[in-house]
Amino acid sequence: MDSYDLLVIGGGINGAGIARDAAGRGLKVMLVERDDLSAHTSASSSKLIHGGLRYLEHYEFRLVAEALAEREVLLRVARHLVWPARFVMPHVPELRPRWMIRAGLFLYDHMGRLAPTFGSQRASLPGSHAVRLDAPPYNSGLKPDFRHGFVYSDCRVDDARLVVSNVMDARRRGAEIRTRTECVAARRESDGWRATLSGGRIVSARAIVNAAGPWVKQVLNERLGQPSQDGIKLVKGSHIVLPQLYRGDHAFILQNDDRRVVFMIPYGDRHTLVGTTDVPFEGDAATAAASDAEVEYLCRAAGRYLARPVDPAHVAWRYAGVRPLYDDGTADPSAVTRDYTLRVDADAGSSPVLSVYGGKITTYRRLAEHALHDLAPFFPELKGEWTATEPLIGGDFGELEREEARDMFFARYGLLPQEHLRGIFRRHGMLAYDVLGSARTLQDLGAYFGAGLYAKEVDYFVAQEWAVTAEDVLWRRTKAGLHLTGAQREAVLRHMGRVS
Ligand SMILES: Cc1cc2nc3c(=O)[nH]c(=O)nc-3n(C[C@H](O)[C@H](O)[C@H](O)COP(=O)(O)OP(=O)(O)OC[C@H]3O[C@@H](n4cnc5c(N)ncnc54)[C@H](O)[C@@H]3O)c2cc1C
Repeated sequence: MDSYDLLVIGGGINGAGIARDAAGRGLKVMLVERDDLSAHTSASSSKLIHGGLRYLEHYEFRLVAEALAEREVLLRVARHLVWPARFVMPHVPELRPRWMIRAGLFLYDHMGRLAPTFGSQRASLPGSHAVRLDAPPYNSGLKPDFRHGFVYSDCRVDDARLVVSNVMDARRRGAEIRTRTECVAARRESDGWRATLSGGRIVSARAIVNAAGPWVKQVLNERLGQPSQDGIKLVKGSHIVLPQLYRGDHAFILQNDDRRVVFMIPYGDRHTLVGTTDVPFEGDAATAAASDAEVEYLCRAAGRYLARPVDPAHVAWRYAGVRPLYDDGTADPSAVTRDYTLRVDADAGSSPVLSVYGGKITTYRRLAEHALHDLAPFFPELKGEWTATEPLIGGDFGELEREEARDMFFARYGLLPQEHLRGIFRRHGMLAYDVLGSARTLQDLGAYFGAGLYAKEVDYFVAQEWAVTAEDVLWRRTKAGLHLTGAQREAVLRHMGRVS
């Protein structure tokens, strides 16, 4: 039987972040994910690294301050996957008065500038200001009635790839990663936990981290036999992807008449992402799907602002995720806290299980630090915090700016088409060199499936990134699924049948 210090259950962003942090502090870590990495909530987000402007209305100051600080940290340590964006809010006087928006943005900018108090360097993103929406660059796609608005900064992220990057980084620091492996049961023994994994393997661990997202309570109660007082509130959020609704790199934050906000965000080069909804959810989160009513809601919310109607028939893709929120007793699903709570259950001071309730992609790194802080009493040998300054695997550009590092990559593979190299660099950062290796010409990349996806990269996903099914490759490691025909997707599937 293999023994570990820490068994992490769940390969979403929180499990991935904790596994990496713990491995880097010298613990022997195993991470088990019963499905694919980021198969559930962590690849279904709005893909924002943000303070959460709207949380100010709910007085979530701690969360906003921490998230704004993390924005700065992630811009440094995950530069290959996180990038700044400008967010435009058209002004609608009957929904929120100008003074209120100005006050909110002032606070947001100000809290962003205080970020160094959380350990990062000076805030790097430009502040907010009022803008005209009846002239370029922000008028594209909008109804001419919207003449005034505000612009502020936040960041965007490739959520699924952030998870993979954390897990790869954990592996390089010695963690053992098992996907398609469920923690079926675990029980406390005198010297730690004995966990049974799917397939019958039994491992022992000094502590367990329960980062099972929407299943956190179920894992605690049913798999680990630990009754818990804490509640989890499941809130479904759906997104739709449409052919490009406006030109430009900026995103829109649209006020809706139910007081919620909906984002419109560029998605790849040719699409726009619109989301999200907040719908109470019951049942198995794995079955969550975007309903027609949600699609109509999102089309209406965007259509209110856009010159051309947004027709549900034009939706190219829809997806849904379930937020595993800590139940703070609030009835309105939009108002339930987005902050996280960590709970340690320890039996007579030994063999703890730490459970993660809630959280954001944005705060995953800090959440991991908090988790290890809480576990530190059980691991006297644990090293100190390190993830705020150490780039994630693939994100180490040294002194170079991202564009400079990318141009060097282009130069190294000068015989290959730049449009394809751009996609590979965006997905892998400095690991793009490992993906292409000694390839020089297109022939060296093997079969071409479309949307910039070659056999060479698919083979890398299988060999290095735990991809098993075509879905893993087409909808999580890349978003090529959106652009490929049925026949092209079949070709990927057939190819993977050969390489795996
Ligand atoms: C619609 C929506 C939009 C969002 N937008 C944003 C955003 O823009 N920015 C932001 O910062 N945050 C956002 N969030 C929040 C963020 O996505 C979540 O907080 C985060 O992804 C939760 O990650 P997790 O690791 O806790 O859960 P998950 O990603 O769900 O991971 C849990 C994993 O545990 C696995 N698991 C469960 N049981 C077992 C078992 N017994 N054995 C092995 N594995 C198991 C599951 O298969 C799953 O993969 C959004 C959330 C939603 C739903």
